[in-house]
Amino acid sequence: MRAAVPDIEADILESYEEHHVADVLCSELAAMSPEAERFDAKTTVLIESVEHHIEEEEEVWFPKVREALGRKELQEIGQEMLNARQVAPHHPAQPSALKKAIDALIS
Ligand SMILES: [Zn+2]
Repeated sequence: MRAAVPDIEADILESYEEHHVADVLCSELAAMSPEAERFDAKTTVLIESVEHHIEEEEEVWFPKVREALGRKELQEIGQEMLNARQVAPHHPAQPSALKKAIDALIS
């Protein structure tokens, strides 16, 4: 999408950072006790941040992508997303999820 819709470059870069923050918060929460002092506050920040993120994606840049790409390209992207879901980490303590968070921190 980044290559196909140069207009949303800044939105996508911001989106990467929001994904990164969510990855870090999920990893931290997975390692914490729910009784910990900051657990509820961290959970609230995660929820608010993800809600804001989804809203921005769905209302700001998905419409631009929908406008810029043809039906066939959109279907291909949809299929890629379905394939990616199969291999995506499903638990923040999974090594692949932790690696993603660490890579984002050091890159
Ligand atoms: Zn996103």
